[in-house]
Amino acid sequence: MTAPIAERIYLSPPDIGELERRYVTEAFDTNWIAPLGPNVDGFEEEFCEVVGASHAAALSSGTAALHLALRLAGVERDDEVLVSTLTFVASASPVVFLGAKPIFVDSERTSWNIDPQRVADFFADRAEKNRLPKALVVVHLYGQCADLDALVELCERYEVTLIEDAAEALGATYRGRSPGTFGQSAIFSFNGNKIITSSGGGMLVSNDEKLIARARKLATQARDPAPHYEHSELGYNYRMSNVVAGIGRGQIASLSDKVAATRRTFDAYYDALADLDGVEFMPEAPWGRHSRWLTCLTVDPEAAGVDREMIRKAMEAANIEARPVWKPMHMQPVFSDAEILGGEVAEDLFERGLCLPSGSSLTDAQRQRVIETFRGVF
Ligand SMILES: *Cc1c(COP(=O)(O)O)cnc(C)c1O
Repeated sequence: MTAPIAERIYLSPPDIGELERRYVTEAFDTNWIAPLGPNVDGFEEEFCEVVGASHAAALSSGTAALHLALRLAGVERDDEVLVSTLTFVASASPVVFLGAKPIFVDSERTSWNIDPQRVADFFADRAEKNRLPKALVVVHLYGQCADLDALVELCERYEVTLIEDAAEALGATYRGRSPGTFGQSAIFSFNGNKIITSSGGGMLVSNDEKLIARARKLATQARDPAPHYEHSELGYNYRMSNVVAGIGRGQIASLSDKVAATRRTFDAYYDALADLDGVEFMPEAPWGRHSRWLTCLTVDPEAAGVDREMIRKAMEAANIEARPVWKPMHMQPVFSDAEILGGEVAEDLFERGLCLPSGSSLTDAQRQRVIETFRGVF
């Protein structure tokens, strides 16, 4: 007889409540499926309140939001844009959509995010050559803000546009403030595995009203005001639907509960696993609160006697989804021509890093299964 297969534990599945259903039902009941509509307006307003931004545009994805953010920063063909190397591909692909070139930057070990010292050295060198990059995309990884004070100061001093990729960091704080208002603009994602989901979608936020107005226009095929269809530039079809926004509205209302849950999960994993030799959890930097969207750790094979892959495979055999830390962009075949500033820290975090199931709906019993499977490898 074979043992019954345990129910799968996912990395970060959607956690949906009744409010979401109510907003979606309202969209159906009022026949306001599209275009745009009250849920889109409501989601934008409520999202602005949460992150402390003054304007927002709800979009079809975080990737679309970053594409617009870069275009509105004036990024054009052959421009250069600095991007954190340790991230998901969507932090860099919109740079290439615009014909510009990403230059990847290594992480520091305090927050695993872009290393401001490398940015400072690069800006100083390029200022001398009068060839500064057009923009810097700072990623706030796994729910933790990068060292924003240092980056804001550098970008102001050298007049480089700062854009925040906060797709993974909704609910985090930097010196008490939400990410999203430190750069010219910021993007968030509501993809299925993010801390809140609209089933798929994104948000562009900015304190610049004109920038968001331009984003809205570009996101609706750049239609000029006229009774007929008039276009003096090209845009995209990037707006969020009123149904999708209903889910997002319901989700944003419970953000603080979700962050409390992901942080509790981190504490439980930490209490149960931190004593293991060679296991080190992703640090919480002194400048902010980590949302712990995902609990991540590294395994030092010399000290542990086991490596990351052994643990990941044991998880998979127990029907538990655990994933390696992002493979850095400078190691990706698609970016093999791109320049990299440093890279050793990100490579090491990829080599040894593991993300554990962290969804806000994770139960004590599920957490226990993860912990027992993890300890069982040692
Ligand atoms: C998820 C994610 C995105 C892209 O968001 P989508 O909504 O999936 O397009 C961008 N950057 C980072 C760091 C992400 O994790």
